[in-house]
Formats: sequence, structure tokens, C-alpha cells
Amino acid sequence: MPRSHICPSCLTELARIRAIPDEHYGLPIVVCPGCQLACVRTKHPDQQFWRVFRRTWVTIRLVIAKVILVILMSLLMWGLVYWSADLYTDYRGNFHFIDPFVSGHFETTLGAWGLPLAAIAIGCSIRLVFLHLRAWVPILMVLVLTAFFTTLDFTVGHLFNAIAQIGSFRSQIDIPSASEMILRGQFFAMLAGLAIIGLVPAVLLRRSVERSGAKRFRKIRKKLRKRRSHDD
Ligand SMILES: [Zn+2]
Repeated sequence: MPRSHICPSCLTELARIRAIPDEHYGLPIVVCPGCQLACVRTKHPDQQFWRVFRRTWVTIRLVIAKVILVILMSLLMWGLVYWSADLYTDYRGNFHFIDPFVSGHFETTLGAWGLPLAAIAIGCSIRLVFLHLRAWVPILMVLVLTAFFTTLDFTVGHLFNAIAQIGSFRSQIDIPSASEMILRGQFFAMLAGLAIIGLVPAVLLRRSVERSGAKRFRKIRKKLRKRRSHDD
């Protein structure tokens, strides 16, 4: 049963008259058959409140999910930096980029191929999740967070030592050496470059992602329209 809607001018019941969206603002307009007055049909305030509440809640959840995703991607990149330090250097800390690819050892070769591919996949997928932003924004977020995680033991160690010096007590923290940090920096730069290369496949995949999104949107709109016509 429709909610009562009374004409403000002649008090005719307008609830049974179908509202037609006006061409400028899309507002549901009802024209009174008694006095020809056009008035806007408003939703019940409770209904309006819950609709806004639901929509806001969905948006908040989506933002939280995306923040978590950025953090997870950065942690993964951080893991890749450590992994590549294991993979592409010998026990003396010398850099060997080609050796792991051609080593007879199966796991090493797998890692040598998997690691750059993982970095490219991260760059590509983070771009596809944040299609509404400029291309460099999501990748920069991930790289800044990765740099933060990669240098965390170094910065925290030095900070703690400084505090120890001021407070004149001995600190037991192991701080990574400068050469270790330079090595990490090199691998970070390499992986950052690969993640940026991941933007190229993202350009190709973008259209199919947007198409599936549009399809879903159309489906939802159809459902809503059906529901609304039931209500009328
Ligand atoms: Zn009227």
C-alpha cells in the first residue's frame, strides 16, 4: 500500500498517482488532478536515512578493503626485496643477476623467474583496483609503504640507539649495515621498476575489467527498477 501523499493546495490524495521524473533534476514529480499543482514526492525520512546509511557503510567498507589491499601488496613487495637479496647475491653479498636464471637448481631458477613476474603482477593488479585514480598514485602508495617497511629495522634501530645514548643505557639492537641497506636499495629499485612495467599489461586489461563492472552495474540497475515497479 502506498504511503499517503496529500496535495498541499487542495488536499487531494496523490498517493495513487504515478510520479514522473522531471527532465532537469530527475525529481519524482506528481501533478495534482484537482488543481494541477506539481509537487515533489518525497521519501519517508526513515527510508531515506537507511538508504544513505547503507550507501555510506558500503563505501566505508570498500575504502577499508582497499587500504588493507595496499598494505598487503606493500608487505609482499617487502618480502620480494628480502627474497631477491637471497636469490641474486652470493654469500659475500655480490650481485649476480643472470646466474639464478641459468642455475641448474630448479627452485632457484623458479624463483629467478617468479620474482620479477610477481613484481609485475603487483604493479598491474594495484592499478586495476584503483582505476578511478591516476596511474602513478596507487603504485606510489605501494612503493612508499614498501620503502617504509624495508628501512624499518634500520630507522628504528638508529632511533633506539639515539634514545639509548641520551638515556645512557646499552642497546642490544642489531642494525643492518650500510652495505646491506645499499643492497636492499638496489633490489627495491629493481622491483619498483618491474612494478611500473606492470602498468603496461594493466592498460590492456583495463577495458575488460571496466566492461565486467559495467555489466554488473546494469544488472543491479535492472533489479532495482524491477523492485521499484513492484513498490508502485
Ligand atoms: Zn491539488
